[in-house]
Amino acid sequence: MALIVQKFGGTSVGTTERIEAVADKIAGFRDRGEDIVVVVSAMSGETNRLVALAQAINDNPPPREMDVLLSTGEQVTIALLCMALQKRGYPARSFTGSQVRILTDQAHTKARIREIDDARIRSELAAGRVVVVAGFQGVDDNGNITTLGRGGSDTTAVALAAALKAEECQIYTDVKGVYTTDPRVVKDASLLQTITFEEMLELASLGAKVLQIRSVEFAGKYRVPLRVLSSFEEGSGTLITMEEESDMEDPAITGIAFARDEAKITVSGVPDVPGVAYQVIGPVSDAGIEVDVIVQNVSADGTTDITFTVKRGDSRQTREILERVATEIGARKVSVDDKIAKVSIVGVGMRSHAGIASKMFKTLADENINIQVITTSEIKISIVIDEKYMELAVRALHAAFELGDPDYQPQGDADD
Ligand code: ASP
Ligand code: MG
Repeated sequence: MALIVQKFGGTSVGTTERIEAVADKIAGFRDRGEDIVVVVSAMSGETNRLVALAQAINDNPPPREMDVLLSTGEQVTIALLCMALQKRGYPARSFTGSQVRILTDQAHTKARIREIDDARIRSELAAGRVVVVAGFQGVDDNGNITTLGRGGSDTTAVALAAALKAEECQIYTDVKGVYTTDPRVVKDASLLQTITFEEMLELASLGAKVLQIRSVEFAGKYRVPLRVLSSFEEGSGTLITMEEESDMEDPAITGIAFARDEAKITVSGVPDVPGVAYQVIGPVSDAGIEVDVIVQNVSADGTTDITFTVKRGDSRQTREILERVATEIGARKVSVDDKIAKVSIVGVGMRSHAGIASKMFKTLADENINIQVITTSEIKISIVIDEKYMELAVRALHAAFELGDPDYQPQGDADD
């Protein structure tokens, strides 16, 4: 019999009514003869509530106790869901991460799964039960409860699907699947039927927050077929595939991602000698600050400029570090621009289609949008622009690359 792992996120189990609806959905799959392992998140808002409780007592809560606290959210939903299933006559049992032996390292609040002992789950399935597992949590070698980082239930689901060699891992959420871009910005964004793991990783790390990035990496590594679909609406969602399965005729661009939570840092008048890039970037990353989009100018007069982006929340600390570095290495100036946005076009088709970059730049030129920084990788081109043109840029690019949904019907009254 086919085994499916299904994960329901916080919104999908946000009220008792919704938990009952999830139970109905699972019952439908059981009736079709599937073996089901369910992973659930905490009810929406619950994990944040628990974090706030901890903060009220200690603004730097001990990580071990934080995990004991945070793991309770998921424990509530597994029990309620099993009650709902049993009420419907479907045998079901709930398990914490520790009970089904999701073994992790000891890195509290951001633990990584090392191993899963699937014996318990298999015997429950063999006994004809639906197995309901608490997402986001595991146990370390010493029996301490650990959690996997915010959004970690996705990773629990993928890891279980890999361990159990499930036919598919289905992530039920509050959107229909993965879109060409954020439908709140581009009304006719289309739902993608498939996307490759590589593209999904780029889009996820660029700010399309459908799945926890780590779960996508995990699914790619263990070749777990992963599907994102809506809890609330019918439809087959988006299947995340291996590249081999994708069609060579696919369009060059799959999606457009954007991020407005970054800041651009420029160190100008840096003496152009070996080692300066390291002297500038090194202390920033040593401080645990993630550095993105790095460019260095060609030097004309023996000095150069180094520009990169960091998360906006890190910009103050970055400036402080670099002002020190600038004095040490004799650079002229450190400037920080908080009012920028990063827009990226992503697609494995870029490998086989020429002219993508020039089309992107022409589209922006036609809209009179100035590009401040450009970086490229094999399947992505990112630009940094003034924040106030971000939505315009995304819409123009979405149209230029013909990503719009041909079946899109504008909603609401058409009184133009
Ligand atoms: N409940 C956890 C969170 O809110 C884990 C999850 O939902 O995936 O981050
Ligand atoms: Mg989530």
